[in-house]
Amino acid sequence: MSLPTLAIVGRPNVGKSTIFNRIVGTRQAIVEDTPGVTRDRLYGRATWLAREFAVIDTGGIDIGDAPLVTQITEQAEVAIQEADVILFIVNVENGVTDADERVAQILYRADKPVVLAVNKVDNAERRNDVFDYYSLGFGEPLPLSGTHGIGLGDVLDAVFANFPEEEDNEDDDSIKFSLIGRPNVGKSSLVNAILGENRVIVSDMEGTTRDAIDTKFSANDADFTMIDTAGLRKRGKVYEATEKYSVLRAMRAIDRSDVVLMVLNAEEGIREQDKRVAGYAHEAGRAIIIVVNKWDTIEKDNHTMADFENLIRSEFQYLDYAPIVFVSAKTHQRLTNLPALILQAAENQSRRIQSSVLNDVLNEALLVTPTPTVNGKRLRIYYMTQVAIKPPTFVVFVNDPDLLHFSYQRFLINQLRDTFDFTGTPIHLIARSRQ
Ligand code: GDP
Ligand code: GDP
Repeated sequence: MSLPTLAIVGRPNVGKSTIFNRIVGTRQAIVEDTPGVTRDRLYGRATWLAREFAVIDTGGIDIGDAPLVTQITEQAEVAIQEADVILFIVNVENGVTDADERVAQILYRADKPVVLAVNKVDNAERRNDVFDYYSLGFGEPLPLSGTHGIGLGDVLDAVFANFPEEEDNEDDDSIKFSLIGRPNVGKSSLVNAILGENRVIVSDMEGTTRDAIDTKFSANDADFTMIDTAGLRKRGKVYEATEKYSVLRAMRAIDRSDVVLMVLNAEEGIREQDKRVAGYAHEAGRAIIIVVNKWDTIEKDNHTMADFENLIRSEFQYLDYAPIVFVSAKTHQRLTNLPALILQAAENQSRRIQSSVLNDVLNEALLVTPTPTVNGKRLRIYYMTQVAIKPPTFVVFVNDPDLLHFSYQRFLINQLRDTFDFTGTPIHLIARSRQ
């Protein structure tokens, strides 16, 4: 259920971000870049030898203008907390520095496997210097060149040798969901209120990762697993308070969820951090429900709800499929609606449409709005088929994939939404040229 996780550590400028991009960039992207989604170096997913894993660039967790030692310490501790394997990077141009020693000291205390890579080994001469790094005490230092990609395969092999065994897919078909949102929006209160309303099957069960405490309950004849990111034990003060760190934790919870409840505070509206996290959930193909909490605190007239809804729709344009619900953890207003909404979103996310039906819809759509002509060349669409669920993913076979622009893609997706119930779930549409 949870991805094996690699965290990259090392002092600034050794090449962490270069290597992070190289690892994450090798993933075959089937997801379109969504306009308005901010992406940063921090957390990503990648595939190596057909196994998916998560990568954290701890260099992306900056703690304002804290001194170097504080930065390095906090970053290493995040790595120890979150990772299955730590990739410790040093720079061959500098020899072993005090800061490298400092990182090593912290990593010794951790009970986590460490792979040591010596970066910027761009040529054969530099290979001789690699042996100096045995002194750091993490076994064989592996030569690497982030800019050229040389040595990355060996490094990833060493990392994978230390990942935990692949878990058997637990025979658990419960619907997994998490509540994501900034501190103080009311996540813990919602968790308690939801559990208070429903029959809890297993409570406070330690999850498979350190990330979260999972709780199972049943409602509406379905089983749910709530991935609780709110009730986490407190960690070091500095990075607990770091916004980047809470974004990281949110992303990890999203990866384990089918459905994400994006919790907003009615009193505070929408912030940049909300957009970042929602964008990640959208691109990861998770079903999404927007939950506006603390609705009891708002003075309302006939327009209040519609106004708030308009604000959300304009701030999160790509989330037009996500239902919005206005609740109060305090008064329990509309909380009983949540299980049905989650169930509906999860069912829609797993919906399969027969090819014959799909192509009827396609032909109808082509009649209503003929394909565009780009630079004198007309887009031709021959056939559509569904290739995956979670999220529903469709391939259209066309004469030239470059001719399928965002707006026509959007039109086709809307035709699918008009015909079938895909409320709550993103849809992925991929163009392939017909052989
Ligand atoms: P970070 O601070 O550890 O994330 O380091 P960066 O990835 O930002 O890299 C710092 C600098 O080193 C950048 O100018 C990179 O282009 C450069 N760099 C990264 N990897 C290599 C490499 O393998 N060889 C060389 N020569 N330069 C590299
Ligand atoms: P979290 O940090 O997102 O887990 O937020 P908490 O659940 O700890 O809630 C933060 C504060 O908001 C607490 O003081 C809660 O009592 C309060 N709170 C949470 N939900 C509501 C609500 O629906 N209405 C009101 N008035 N207060 C709420």
